[in-house]
Amino acid sequence: MEGAKTAKNGRSPNLTMENRGERAFLAAVDADHDDALWNVDDSLAELASLARTAGAEVVGTLSQRLRKPDPVTYLGKGRANELAQLHDELDYDLLILDDELAPSQQRNLEEVVGARVIDRTALILDIFAQHAHTREGQLQVELAQLEYRLPRLTGRGRAMSRVGGGSRGSGGGGVGGAIGVRGPGETKLEIDRRRIRSRIAELKRELESVRQVRGQQRRQRGAQAIPVVAVVGYTNAGKSTLFNKLTAAGVLVEDKLFATLDPTTRHITLPTHGEVLLTDTVGFIQKLPTSLIAAFRATLEEVIEADILLEVVDVTHENAIEQSQTVSDVLEELGAADKPRVTALNKIDLLADPSVVDTSLYPNAVPVSALTGAGLNALLVRLGQVMAERMVRARVLLPYDRGDLVETFHRRGHVEEERQEPEGTLLVGALPQPLLATFGPFRLDVRRTSRRRTPHATVEGQAHAGELAASE
Ligand code: GDP
Ligand code: MG
Repeated sequence: MEGAKTAKNGRSPNLTMENRGERAFLAAVDADHDDALWNVDDSLAELASLARTAGAEVVGTLSQRLRKPDPVTYLGKGRANELAQLHDELDYDLLILDDELAPSQQRNLEEVVGARVIDRTALILDIFAQHAHTREGQLQVELAQLEYRLPRLTGRGRAMSRVGGGSRGSGGGGVGGAIGVRGPGETKLEIDRRRIRSRIAELKRELESVRQVRGQQRRQRGAQAIPVVAVVGYTNAGKSTLFNKLTAAGVLVEDKLFATLDPTTRHITLPTHGEVLLTDTVGFIQKLPTSLIAAFRATLEEVIEADILLEVVDVTHENAIEQSQTVSDVLEELGAADKPRVTALNKIDLLADPSVVDTSLYPNAVPVSALTGAGLNALLVRLGQVMAERMVRARVLLPYDRGDLVETFHRRGHVEEERQEPEGTLLVGALPQPLLATFGPFRLDVRRTSRRRTPHATVEGQAHAGELAASE
C-alpha cells in the first residue's frame, strides 16, 4: 500500500531530528503580557532541556521583547537578520522557536535565516515520537504529527511555494526545469495531502476503538468499585519513579522529558484504606498545544475518570510553582481540576534541609523522595485520609454463603469490628461510596433508617431505598 511508505512500524518518520547531535540555536519572543506564568529565561531553559532530550546540542539562545510576535517572521526583522549572521558564525543546523509558529512565519524565517526552523510543538512531537512504546502511544503521536504537518505541507520545497495558479498539474509534465517540475510537484503535493488526510481518518478510527476498549475496562473497574488514583505532574517530576516505588512494577524511568506516554495501571494497597488502582500518566508541559491534548485523549481520559489525583511536584526545581500551576491549568482544560488531590513534593533527598519545604502551597502536600523512599508511608497515609473522605460508614451482616463480600469489605474497605453471629458475619467499618449498592441489602444501619427516611432524603438513602425495593 502507498500509505505504508510514510509509516515505518505504524509511525511516521520524525519531523525534526533525523540525525543525532544537530547543533541548535534557540530563540523566544518575550511577549510581555502581565498574565504570563513563565518568564522567558525559564521557558528557554526548559526548551534547551527539551532540545537536548531530542538529541540536539544547544549552541546559543536569544530572546526578544516584543509587544506581540511579528506576524511575518515571528521575530522582528532586526533579530531575524542577527540570527542569519549567527548562522554564518556558529554554523547551527536548526533554529528552534519557543512557541508554536504559523506555517508562514516558519517559512519566512527560514528564508531570512537560511537554516531549518522548527517550533516548540514540533520538538515536543519529536520527543513524543521517540518515547511512544505501545501501539496506542504510537498511534496518538502519529496523529498529532500528521495534523501538525498537514497545514505546513506547502512550505516544504521552495520551488513549490512560488508556483501560482491551479492546484492540478498535468501528471505527465517534462522532467528537469521549473516548468517540468511544477506540474508533477503540485500533483505530488495534492497526493501527499490526500494520503495524509486518509491516514488521519484511519488513525482516528483506530484510536476510537482504543478508547472504547479503555472505556470498557474502566466500566469493569467501576463495577469492582476499586478507586482509581491517577499520578499526574509536570514532565520529569518523578511520576514514574514514584509509581515504580509504590508498585514495584518496573515502569520505564528516564532522565528525559516525556519518558512515559502510555499509562500503566497497577493495584496497590494503602495501609489504612484498602486497595486502589494507581495509574501512571504522560507528563504535562507548558504551551502544550490543544491539538496535542486532543490526540492524547485516550490516555488523558484515565486522568479525567480518576477518583483522586496524586500530583508529583519536583519541589527542588526552581520553577516548581510554575510547573504545578501549569499542571492545574491542563487539568482545568481537561475538566479534572476539582478532583480531590494529594501532592507528593518529590526529590527532597536533593535538599540539604528537607524541613524547609513549604507544604502550605499545595493541597494535601507530603514531602517525599521517590528515589530513597523517604516520606512514602506518610504519603500513602495521606492518600488514605483523602480516600476516607469518600468512604461511608457501614455496618453489615453478611450471610455465611457470602464469603466473597466479607473478603471485598476487607480488601476495599476498612474493617473496625468483625464478629461471627448465628446468621452470618457482622462487619463494622467504612466502605468506598461506589460499593454501597453491592452491600445495600445487607446493611443493618441503612435498613433501619431508610424505612423512616423520605425517599428524597439523600442520594445514599435513595440508592438504598431502590436497592431494598429491588431485593425484597
Ligand atoms: P516523570 O517524567 O515524572 O515520569 O519522571 P521520572 O520518574 O522518569 O523521573 C525523572 C528523573 O528524576 C529521573 O532521572 C529520576 O531518577 C529522577 N528522580 C525521580 N524521583 C527522584 C527523587 O526522589 N530524587 C531524585 N534525586 N531524583 C529523582
Ligand atoms: Mg514518566
